[in-house]
Amino acid sequence: MQFKNQYKYFNPSLYEEIFAKPSWYLQIAAEFEELIANYNKLTTEEERDLIKEKRTEFIFLLSEYLEQDKVFINRNCEGYFDDERKEIDTIVIHHSSRPAEIPIEFMNALHLLNLYLPKFLNQTKHYFGKALYSGHSHNDKPTFIAYHYMIWPDGHFEQTLEDKYIGWHCGNWDYNCRSIAITFHDDLEEKEPTEQAINTAKELIQKYNPKEILGHREILSTTVCPGNKFLGENGWKRKLINKE
Ligand SMILES: [Zn+2]
Repeated sequence: MQFKNQYKYFNPSLYEEIFAKPSWYLQIAAEFEELIANYNKLTTEEERDLIKEKRTEFIFLLSEYLEQDKVFINRNCEGYFDDERKEIDTIVIHHSSRPAEIPIEFMNALHLLNLYLPKFLNQTKHYFGKALYSGHSHNDKPTFIAYHYMIWPDGHFEQTLEDKYIGWHCGNWDYNCRSIAITFHDDLEEKEPTEQAINTAKELIQKYNPKEILGHREILSTTVCPGNKFLGENGWKRKLINKE
C-alpha cells in the first residue's frame, strides 16, 4: 500500500483492519475522545500544540483510507439528512483556517470526525452503532465535507457539495438548511483573502442572488471564522457585497 504520509504514532495496517468493519468508529472511540472531542475543548494554544501532531497524523490516516475506499461507509442513505433542505436565501462565508496545500480529503476526514462522529456516537440516536453515512456523495464517492464550495488563493474553486445537500457548516441548523457555504481555503484569521479568491467568491454569490451574506462568526459567536478582518468598516465582507 502506498501512503503519501509517514506515520509515527499510528500503525496503518492495524487501522486498515479496523476501518474495514461496519462499526469501525466504535473501535476508535479512544482516539476520538483524545484527538477530537477533548482537543476541541482545550483553551490554550500550548495545550493544543502538545497533541496537534498526533491529531493531524490521525486525520491524515483516516483521509488516506477514505480516499482508497477502505473505510466502511453505508452508501444507501442518499439524502437521509436532507429532508429539511429549504430554498437557498443565505450565503455563509468561512475560511478553512488551514494552508491551501492541505488536500480536500483531509477536510473530508476532519468533518467526518468533527461533525458526523459525535452524532453516530450518541446512544440516543437511532443510527447509533450503525454503519456511518452522510447521505452525500461527490464524484461518486461518499463525502462528509460541510462546505458547498472551496476557493483557493489563486482563484480556482471546486464545488465540494451539491446544492441539494444540507452542509453541516455553521453550527445552526436553520441556517444550514437554507444556506450555501462558501469557504476560502486559507488561514484568514489575521489576513484578507487574495483578490483572485474574492473575485471568484463574488461570481459564485451572484449566481445565488442571496438575501443575506453572513460570515460564520455572525451566526456563531464562539468562532472567529472567517477571520478578524472580515467585519468592520474596512472589512473584506464589503468587497463581496459590492456589485462592481
Ligand atoms: Zn466557519
